[in-house]
Amino acid sequence: MSVEIITIGNELLSGTTVDTNATYIAASVIEIGLSVSRMSSVGDAPEDIINALKSVLPGTKYIIVTGGLGPTDDDRTADAAARAFGRTVELNQEALAAIEKRFAGYGAKMPFSNQRQAMLPARVEIIPNPRGTASGFIIEAAGREFIFMPGVPAEAEAMTESFIIPRLKEQSGFKQVILSKSLRVFGLWESAIQERLDGQIQEGPGLSLAYLPHFPEVRLKITGMGADPEKVRQEIARAAAVIQEKVGEYIYSVNDEPFELVVGQLLKEKKATIAIAESCTGGLISHRLTNIAGSSDYLQMGVVVYSNRAKVELLNIPQSVLDEHGAVSEPCARLMAKKVRELAGSTYGLAVTGIAGPTGGSTEKPVGTVFIGVASVEAESVTQHRFFGGREQIKLMSSHMALNNLRKCILQQ
Ligand code: ATP
Repeated sequence: MSVEIITIGNELLSGTTVDTNATYIAASVIEIGLSVSRMSSVGDAPEDIINALKSVLPGTKYIIVTGGLGPTDDDRTADAAARAFGRTVELNQEALAAIEKRFAGYGAKMPFSNQRQAMLPARVEIIPNPRGTASGFIIEAAGREFIFMPGVPAEAEAMTESFIIPRLKEQSGFKQVILSKSLRVFGLWESAIQERLDGQIQEGPGLSLAYLPHFPEVRLKITGMGADPEKVRQEIARAAAVIQEKVGEYIYSVNDEPFELVVGQLLKEKKATIAIAESCTGGLISHRLTNIAGSSDYLQMGVVVYSNRAKVELLNIPQSVLDEHGAVSEPCARLMAKKVRELAGSTYGLAVTGIAGPTGGSTEKPVGTVFIGVASVEAESVTQHRFFGGREQIKLMSSHMALNNLRKCILQQ
């Protein structure tokens, strides 16, 4: 059985928005054994939407459409769908009740403009929206199901997962189990990983390996499919073991966990604490660590010492060190890590100082030069790096590297 995906929105055609809905939906339906016959995008013009709905590929059972179900004037999908299938538009009581309930949950009265989201073609089946106000809907016509969802990716994804996939799975009689495992790799790019794994994993209908670059790391997703769950689990474990053997030292999580969680868990296990002094990352590392619930168990302090004066006055870095070596230097990173650890009385100190650019670089210290210091009770260590990319990429890369250095230091002790 095949699925056609139509995404609606001028922003998709102008190149300002990347069509993540189509790729998400395609990956989800393929996982339950369906195939995708076509993916296309059209603008918000009703005629274009009607044309797209009327010219779906023959033999396609499901047509999944996203976008244009909002409360504003440029949201015209419901009207266009009604015209395409020769139906009237009417106030759908089930959709209206869902919108009112959502607003009541916020303690607010539904604005009149939102009533528009309940004006739907007649005789539709409603798809609940767990994340937003616009209900999705299904029109059955000529032996096909036209499934409409809002364009907001979080909403479309939640509806796909909670409603569309279970429904399509049941209707298509898909009985296989699908299991997956994601490993996170940092420090090796996709091509280098591929070289190391070349020919080592026997991919086939029951097993696949996807390389998912997610700057500044790569995620490796192993997906297994089959009738026997235990067998699928074993196949995945075998593939994971091969990956561990070939790129193990670069894998920081075998359960798709972010760095901040991995590091937090390690600190917790060791009953250790951390203090952070950040310059070019501007608090990003502290922000990431505090994204994890319970981080107060180990994060004692995070200071942004951006100026030289802050480094001197808050951390007691000698002015002479800054004069002689500069703020972006090995001695400064070492002292920042040591001093912030001493100030907080924590087990570890972590420090980052560098040039995120685009200005401020020199021949000796070009943009992207970053020093990362890790201090423990016994000693300090510093690594020097040259990162590339824009300001935000350099900051993100620095925070990743800093968390990785801290992780390695904790593991070594
Ligand atoms: P609403 O108007 O309530 O926000 P909607 O159903 O009308 O929802 P759109 O207006 O089409 O959806 O899009 C809402 C947001 O979702 C926009 O920021 C848009 O860029 C984004 N979006 C829409 N379609 C896609 C898509 N296919 N892939 C990624 N993002 C999308």
